[in-house]
Amino acid sequence: MLAGSTLGLSKSKRVMKIHESDARCIFSQCGISVPPSTVAGTPDEAAAVAAKYNSPVVIKALVLAGGRGKAGGVKVANSPDATRKIARDVLGLVIKGEQVQRVLVAPAVDITREIYLGVTVDRASQSAVLMASAAGGVDIEEVAARRPGDIHRVEFDVDRGLAPWQARAIGFGLGLNGRQVSAFVRTARGLVEVFVDCDASLAEINPLAVDADGELWALDAKLNIDDSALVRQPGMASLRDTNVEDPAEGQAREAGISYIKLAGNIGCMVNGAGLAMATMDVVKHHGGEPANFLDVGGGANAIRVATALEIILGDANVGAVFVNIFGGITRADHVARGIIAAQGNMQRDVPLVVRLVGTNEIDGLKMLADAGIGAERSMETAARMAVAAVK
Ligand code: GDP
Ligand code: MN
Repeated sequence: MLAGSTLGLSKSKRVMKIHESDARCIFSQCGISVPPSTVAGTPDEAAAVAAKYNSPVVIKALVLAGGRGKAGGVKVANSPDATRKIARDVLGLVIKGEQVQRVLVAPAVDITREIYLGVTVDRASQSAVLMASAAGGVDIEEVAARRPGDIHRVEFDVDRGLAPWQARAIGFGLGLNGRQVSAFVRTARGLVEVFVDCDASLAEINPLAVDADGELWALDAKLNIDDSALVRQPGMASLRDTNVEDPAEGQAREAGISYIKLAGNIGCMVNGAGLAMATMDVVKHHGGEPANFLDVGGGANAIRVATALEIILGDANVGAVFVNIFGGITRADHVARGIIAAQGNMQRDVPLVVRLVGTNEIDGLKMLADAGIGAERSMETAARMAVAAVK
């Protein structure tokens, strides 16, 4: 299988996750009924919030990871004292590697039904799609795998949005009554609006709860923004939580480098996203495992190349680095200068396999040779050498 397709680039990494507290705000602005909530950083603050709401509250770990409920990060408390105690426990949790620093406290809803509602891009049908399921609250992937018939879906045109009749049909399909269907239509169309306006790759309410009075409430708010759209979404970009992000990914972003860490041990430094994908494929083809996807960008200069190498070597799994540069706008001599500078500052001594061709390659190759760094012209040969270097 091609490395590119195993990456799940759009699914996992190339998105920016928005905290539930912010997503709730955005959902609510689009007409979705969301219970009020307050963020608390200490057990005492949480207790004070519970006292303010004067009702049972739900205490939720405010982390970007999903599946908090299963990890013990979502609890209901009946009094401010119980809230303080539970908040203390939840604030001590580490969920999927993320230390819980804050909790969200909200009046608890008396749930009679949990519905799943989500909007995403379906790559197979090349369309935006709204999905709903009567089996809410649980992992939608599980429902999709075990009972695919329980998922209602409707594809829609992002320029036109979701028509009221499309949402209505799904509402009735979920077994909601007339009044609830009206609320569902407002919720579904609101979620589509969020999805389109925010350039989201996923907007999700799970659970969308029906309370004892038959009202619909969004009890969870998940919003993932497509990384590539952040340039035109400054409002979303400002919501980034840099505490959670991998420092290497932050450093890469600031340097204008696309970097995605993977599980392998061959660091790849490449210019151009297409060549970077092809490089991972050729590494895998020869039995190696790429440690990352990295595109230094077109017109990469010596400083960017040096930064890229520093980022790659920051990953302790990396046992060899495969530099694969095709100089078009990028000049091979600039790249060579970057490699030489970076090699001088290398924190660790790992084999460096360089394949360098294109604009000014004669100058570039000579500079490398003078610095005692060998270089290949064939991508195939270089890939084999990189794989051999970690064996
Ligand atoms: P997730 O596990 O990270 O998706 O966190 P959720 O916010 O979806 O919460 C997990 C589960 O906690 C939900 O499926 C509900 O069953 C429960 N839950 C969340 N909010 C409330 C609430 O207001 N009242 C009650 N009774 N349960 C809630
Ligand atoms: Mn949820």
